[in-house]
Amino acid sequence: MELIVAKFGGTSIGNGSRIRKAAQSVVNEYMKGNKVVVVVSAINKATDDLIKIMDEAIGEAITDKQNAEILSMGELTSSRIFSGAIESLGVKSEFIDPYDENWPIITDSNSLNAGIDFDLTQEASKNITDLVNQGIIPVICGFVGKGKNGEITTLGRGGSDITAFLLGHCLDADEVIIVTDVDGVMSTDPNKIESALKLDKISVEEMRDLATHGAQVLHPHSLKYKDPLINAKIISYEKGNLESSGTAIVGPFGDDIMKSATIYPEPIKVLALVGENMLKKQGLLSILTSTLADNEINIFGISAGQNSITIFLNKKDANDAYHLLHNLVVKNNTLSSLSLGKDISMLTVVDPDFINTPGIISRITDPLKENDINIVEISSSQTAIVLFVEWQDGEKAFELIKEVLK
Ligand code: ASP
Ligand code: MG
Repeated sequence: MELIVAKFGGTSIGNGSRIRKAAQSVVNEYMKGNKVVVVVSAINKATDDLIKIMDEAIGEAITDKQNAEILSMGELTSSRIFSGAIESLGVKSEFIDPYDENWPIITDSNSLNAGIDFDLTQEASKNITDLVNQGIIPVICGFVGKGKNGEITTLGRGGSDITAFLLGHCLDADEVIIVTDVDGVMSTDPNKIESALKLDKISVEEMRDLATHGAQVLHPHSLKYKDPLINAKIISYEKGNLESSGTAIVGPFGDDIMKSATIYPEPIKVLALVGENMLKKQGLLSILTSTLADNEINIFGISAGQNSITIFLNKKDANDAYHLLHNLVVKNNTLSSLSLGKDISMLTVVDPDFINTPGIISRITDPLKENDINIVEISSSQTAIVLFVEWQDGEKAFELIKEVLK
């Protein structure tokens, strides 16, 4: 017997017959002896419709409080219909909205982008466990929350994924199933490249990077709550079967990989190549990297500027690389010289909040500056920052960064 949290996205409950089919898929699992908690989005594009109507009717005069209350109507409606559909199939069900005494998702008072109060949510989730243990299928409004003063809040667009993974965590579920309008995660947008393939599985880390880079399948913040031991998958609504395989989301692997600072244990060396107008020279990077690859030398990082290219390597490879690339410099007209720098320490900081936290880089770099630690090089993506500092500063920088992440 398993506890499943099944989240249904807007398209998967886009009309009456789809809702019935979705409810049937939930009842089928229940009949097999599993416990199911349903999380629903708003029906189809109901949230977009509400936004448009609010805009026309109220315009800029709208308050955040009004806005959240109106937006919540999408999920308030779908939860009632979904729950009714389950009951019509002969199984007891209750819709749970923020007005209900059993409501689990407790937030701060930020109406439109509410932050989760994890402890209170964990506590209130016991109400849901109680319902499930009585053989009831709760249908919970996704995307909405309840502030400390009982007010309605929302978790931001696409927030019902957050509801699903958060509940999965708090209820200690065995599986979180995201039912959506695609078969799973694809290698790229199939509308852009026809040969796109469905992936059978993807790691939490990869999924989070995909989501932060704009893939619409899942809210990037929802994965914060994905426990390593909870199975998760993304499936299409079309088969009407919660056992469909879709794409499994596995992990996270390692300790608290969602938010972490790591230091590479060995010294890194920087090789700097100098030349003129290097960025306009085709194939230059490829000559450099293939030379290193042919000699089985790994590259930790590379950055290319107008007149220089720097390559970060393990110290043990640096001397070989130095000689190999020097041969290239001598032969190549664009490249004029090469230098091998001091020992360097590499630090990697991962935090799913990077994408939407203004000033996050300075929160990490300011303490380094205050401690006179020079940053040799920094590169950032939407979820990770890699810093290179001088070797003797590495440990100190690591301590300072861990402090910031706390
Ligand atoms: N209904 C909300 C939205 O469209 C939340 C969700 O679907 O996840 O943004
Ligand atoms: Mg969505």
